[in-house]
Amino acid sequence: MPISKTDKTYLDHLACSDCGETTSPDALHTTCPSCGGPLLVRYDLDTARTELDRDRLAARPDRLWNWRELLPVRETAHIVDLGEGGMPLLEAQRIGQALGVMHLWIKDEGLNPTGSFKARGMAVAISRAIELGVRDFVVPTAGNAGGAAAAYSARGGARVRVDMPKDAPLANRAEAEAAGAEVVLVDGLISAASALAARHAREHGWFDLSTLREPYRVEGKKTMGYEIAHQLGWRVPDGIIYPTGGGTGLIGIWKAFAEMEALGWIDAKRPRMIAVQAEGCAPVYRAFHAGLNHCEMWADAHTEAAGLRVPRPFADKLILATLRDSGGTVVTVSDAAMKRAQHWIARHEGMSACLEGAATIAALDILIQSGQVRPDEWIVCLNTGSGLKEPHQLRRDSAHV
Ligand SMILES: *Cc1c(COP(=O)(O)O)cnc(C)c1O
Ligand SMILES: [Zn+2]
Repeated sequence: MPISKTDKTYLDHLACSDCGETTSPDALHTTCPSCGGPLLVRYDLDTARTELDRDRLAARPDRLWNWRELLPVRETAHIVDLGEGGMPLLEAQRIGQALGVMHLWIKDEGLNPTGSFKARGMAVAISRAIELGVRDFVVPTAGNAGGAAAAYSARGGARVRVDMPKDAPLANRAEAEAAGAEVVLVDGLISAASALAARHAREHGWFDLSTLREPYRVEGKKTMGYEIAHQLGWRVPDGIIYPTGGGTGLIGIWKAFAEMEALGWIDAKRPRMIAVQAEGCAPVYRAFHAGLNHCEMWADAHTEAAGLRVPRPFADKLILATLRDSGGTVVTVSDAAMKRAQHWIARHEGMSACLEGAATIAALDILIQSGQVRPDEWIVCLNTGSGLKEPHQLRRDSAHV
């Protein structure tokens, strides 16, 4: 249980990111009741601005729940907490020097419960759903979301079914089973798992935790944005590089910056949000550079980075709008480049990065070479998970280095 005793939240309403329809946050919702688009949480930030002090919140010992008033849970007693959030923002001087970037940080999310930043989203989504009476969850996953959902469901005394591709990382299957989840292996990609989970939710009334098909995982992930700003002394970085699958973190971090400006915590400057995808599965890359506002299904998706094996993100419009509104871009990197970067991060900085996280460093190399990032800019790369969840990838012979 977190230490903050306040039950205060400025939670106000839910708003559809597609059609703008608003709805009550105190009923259980998945997507927009009118159009089926993703719902986002809105807070009474005008009042919060006069009552909240950024440094007082940041100084709390409650990690993710430091930002409690800007999260959707009404009663502290409903919080399902495993110590998530509060992850270090580590300066990466050696890598920065080698790439030609003077101010580079890696936010190391691999130290979260279950070894990835999926813990943030699940902590908030499962706490809030339990508060609203849910006891049975179902989640489709490429891997880490299933492990996190299983852990938080176990901790919250709820039941969960995890639908994952049969080639999902063994660690994810093992951690989900260990936490008592019913694991269903699917012959196909996360898109096939999503269809199966949606059917199970429909037929049995279980709550579907799919990315952006419920409003609260984004809220958990937005706390990365608050932390980054605080850890940089409330100075906004020039660019944030994020390995994008379903897009929850990208959307969440961007939302956090808008909220911080409305709260008077930062000025109008915003980071460029830069997505990185795998060469073998790059629906956002293709849509962005074709000038489209939606993604086509990527045929034959393949990459060893399971978190990036998302052939068509549900929140495609929001992802593309975030990239464009922020002046950002999308790059792709090969699996070989991810592996080289993974070894580099381990050898030069001592950090255990997953392939997805390593992809951000491989992307930075491309961005610097092509002049899209300048040497004096402040750049934050997200390492979204621990490399130890797939230790075979860390073996030297796997990267040909
Ligand atoms: C899920 C996942 C991603 C992609 O995150 P989204 O917020 O869904 O885009 C990246 N890296 C890792 C390790 C993941 O588990
Ligand atoms: Zn709508």
